[in-house]
Amino acid sequence: MTHTSTPLLGGIEAGGTKFVCAVGYPPDNIYALEQFPTTTPRETLGRTLDFFRSQPHLPDAIGIATFGPADVRPTSNTYGFITSTPKPGWRNTDLVGFVERSLYLPAAFDTDVNGAAVGEHAWGAGQDVDNLLYLSVGTGFGGGAIVEGVPVHGLVHPEMGHLNLPRANGDDFKGHCPYHGPCLEGMASGPAIKARWGIPAESLPPDHTAWEFEAHYLSLAVTNLILTLSPERVIMGGGVMQQEHLFPAIRSRVQSYLNDYVQADAIIRGIDNYIVPPGLGDRAGVLGAMGLALSL
Ligand code: ADP
Ligand code: ZN
Repeated sequence: MTHTSTPLLGGIEAGGTKFVCAVGYPPDNIYALEQFPTTTPRETLGRTLDFFRSQPHLPDAIGIATFGPADVRPTSNTYGFITSTPKPGWRNTDLVGFVERSLYLPAAFDTDVNGAAVGEHAWGAGQDVDNLLYLSVGTGFGGGAIVEGVPVHGLVHPEMGHLNLPRANGDDFKGHCPYHGPCLEGMASGPAIKARWGIPAESLPPDHTAWEFEAHYLSLAVTNLILTLSPERVIMGGGVMQQEHLFPAIRSRVQSYLNDYVQADAIIRGIDNYIVPPGLGDRAGVLGAMGLALSL
């Protein structure tokens, strides 16, 4: 952006369950915020448009952080689209084209988890580092990475939620992922927990075996991702991570798997500040979307 003053930013957190739209100067001055359920693209994008058109000032740029899979390659013909999602009606939905053609504003586009990683890097739990991992354990399982200050894309974009991991002892659940059965998302997302135990994750007591299994999958995933990306911080959010007891369980397992092989104080002595919840709390998603617009 070519502004000399701070730009007014817009954000669209396009989630599979809900959309959150915001306008303001993040992180503190968000002066309009609205959320509504994700229904059909027509209705949901209509409400998005109404939100921005009803603002006294249009933002200078809008960031879109979306559920996926999404095409985040700027040179591609379908850049800015949600692509092969199983979510009914949303296949091949052109989100960037929608913002550019209906609001005449520049739009930045990335996955929801890369957005959250960007927001945490700018204003949250990753402000002091340039390499970080953001994992979201909720309805799905997603991972976003910032390497040397830049969100990682690649061939399509990382799909850390579909890692294939060894089972926990005694876990014979067939898995909940329509593509891979017992992948990470298939074993450890909120719906996987509910399908395995017949009880929603939020209703399981902290001493339930479910959390042993959960700590097993999450700590293995974090270990493998630490070994792959060498992040300086691992931020874990999403509904399931509201179970605060998971943090110490994951930290100690990660230390034990790594067995002091990765010679880093942050892991060996400082793990409480290394594997952490989001600094932006439940605003991480929409602030992350706004953060994406900073790159324009
Ligand atoms: P989404 O992934 O749709 O953006 P969330 O991150 O809130 O939304 O994830 C929703 C999932 O998190 C649901 O499967 C729900 O069962 C689970 N969940 C929500 N709150 C809790 C909680 N306090 N403890 C454990 N699981 C929770
Ligand atoms: Zn999968």
